[in-house]
Amino acid sequence: MDDCRAADLQPVICSDYRSQETQQRLFNNQHNRLIVQGYSEENARTEAGKVVAVPGTSEHQLGLAVDIVDIENQILDEDQEKTAVQKWLMENSWRNGFILRYPNDKSNITGIIYEPWHYRYVGKEAAKEIYDLDVCLEEYLH
Ligand SMILES: [Zn+2]
Repeated sequence: MDDCRAADLQPVICSDYRSQETQQRLFNNQHNRLIVQGYSEENARTEAGKVVAVPGTSEHQLGLAVDIVDIENQILDEDQEKTAVQKWLMENSWRNGFILRYPNDKSNITGIIYEPWHYRYVGKEAAKEIYDLDVCLEEYLH
């Protein structure tokens, strides 16, 4: 965050550690939204899991993930990638051991939608390799 600010940017952490209870509430909210839209119980659960991690599987529950947005745009959608903060983080977060965890072209591998705000700590060595190889964490670990 200090490095990002030193580049004259204004990053904001909008989510960090989450308890099981909080994750369950977020998941239930998403699930219920889909049920209201007419999804079956099974499909609602599957689709909700693509947007909000199934409770017990979120990296936020590990305490290793942070969602960072630009103060100018704090909406979590794909437009986040256009912000100055995201452009900087995508190029530089590896220097502090973080990776963009759910890249745009890797959803079929990660099982999670593109999240140009979600960064995970993996350590400086792994982060540099993942960045240099342009792979996602799943590919890196296989
Ligand atoms: Zn996140």
